[in-house]
Amino acid sequence: MTESEKKLEQMLKDFEKANPDAGKALRKLVDETPALKGNLLSSIEKGTLERIEPTPAGIPPNIPGFYTSKEETLPSGEKLKANSIYISTTELIDAGKDPKIANNMRMIMTHESEHALNKDSILKADKAFEDKLLAIAKGPSPHDYTSVLAEKGKSDRLREATDQIGGFNAVAAYVFKENPGATQAQLYQKLYDSCPEMEPYFNVKGTPPKATYELKDGLTLGKDGQLALTPPDVKEKNIEAMGKYFYDARPYQEQYGTRDLVRALKTELDTQTAEAAKNPSYTPPEVRVNLKELGLQHLSPHLPSGITDTSSSPYIRGSAQEPQPALREGHERTHLHALDGHGVGTRDSGGFKVDPSLSELLKAMNDPNSNPVSMREALANFAKQPDIQHIRQEGAREYVQQEAQKVQETAKPQPAQEAPAQETPARKVSGM
Ligand SMILES: [Zn+2]
Repeated sequence: MTESEKKLEQMLKDFEKANPDAGKALRKLVDETPALKGNLLSSIEKGTLERIEPTPAGIPPNIPGFYTSKEETLPSGEKLKANSIYISTTELIDAGKDPKIANNMRMIMTHESEHALNKDSILKADKAFEDKLLAIAKGPSPHDYTSVLAEKGKSDRLREATDQIGGFNAVAAYVFKENPGATQAQLYQKLYDSCPEMEPYFNVKGTPPKATYELKDGLTLGKDGQLALTPPDVKEKNIEAMGKYFYDARPYQEQYGTRDLVRALKTELDTQTAEAAKNPSYTPPEVRVNLKELGLQHLSPHLPSGITDTSSSPYIRGSAQEPQPALREGHERTHLHALDGHGVGTRDSGGFKVDPSLSELLKAMNDPNSNPVSMREALANFAKQPDIQHIRQEGAREYVQQEAQKVQETAKPQPAQEAPAQETPARKVSGM
């Protein structure tokens, strides 16, 4: 046994000791999934994986698993440890009983293990992004962040798509082994039926039992039943198609794009604050971003004042037509006012005020490799903001009260949300 194998064995033992049923299912998944096991062992060897633990109580039980590269404190006060894969014991126990859930977990865990394996390159890309942001923040006016953000979005997409191919192939290898001698048509069906996470990659014609299954356009399997990674042009096509069916089909660009935008704004804000402190006659630069180009049009109404969205036709939720600037400004103020009194501060710097929702995101984003859970929470709060179209000067308070009631109602059956959570809307608006 190598050192890494010994460490993995110890992790599985510890998991099993505290959670016998889930631990047993976890061990089975690792044993049956060579790609997953290989990634875990390589990550242990690299030092980017130190533990596999059950997700803590502060994480909603329907989140199957995730990787954290850095220590992080959850709104519930619980700490997530660095270099850890967290897995839902509920999902694992179900995986022990249901082969489809087992395959789902096989895919998700392999995907997350790819992130552990690629931690160093992710951090490197992150550092390069940070440097580019700083160069703009310290450079001459205007400060346009669009192209750096677009480039970062592309590299996030490439990475997620590549890691998801790892997840797909882990399940594909398992299905291939379970069905020796299957024809291509049979294999497609077996893959499609293997788990819900496989369904987005196939077209189904007709209804079972007469249905036929085809891989979606752009995806190519090799002779081993897995998405082919050779020759290079086939690999490239598979990655691009995975970008479309996985990354683009889920709210990844919204999640990563918002995170990256917030980091750009934070860098700008910090730089302006430092400059203003040094120079009393400091004039803030013009700050620009094309939200449409970044697929983040919906954030346009929430952009902090002092930043220009250069999209040709800003998109406003629920509105076919761009509102008059004065009207929009008024609504933004109401919006800020509606949320201001609930403990989320604003920071001033030159001409630049940060929307409270953005400052909340900024807090969650302080970790450059922020874990997906706090990200999700911050985004959920962002998404729950009163829609700009529904806010009226006089109606704002009533609206917030209604929202508070909705949040309290939805919070009831979900114990995870009852934990004291400083940054959840429930806490924020129930103070009304
Ligand atoms: Zn991922």
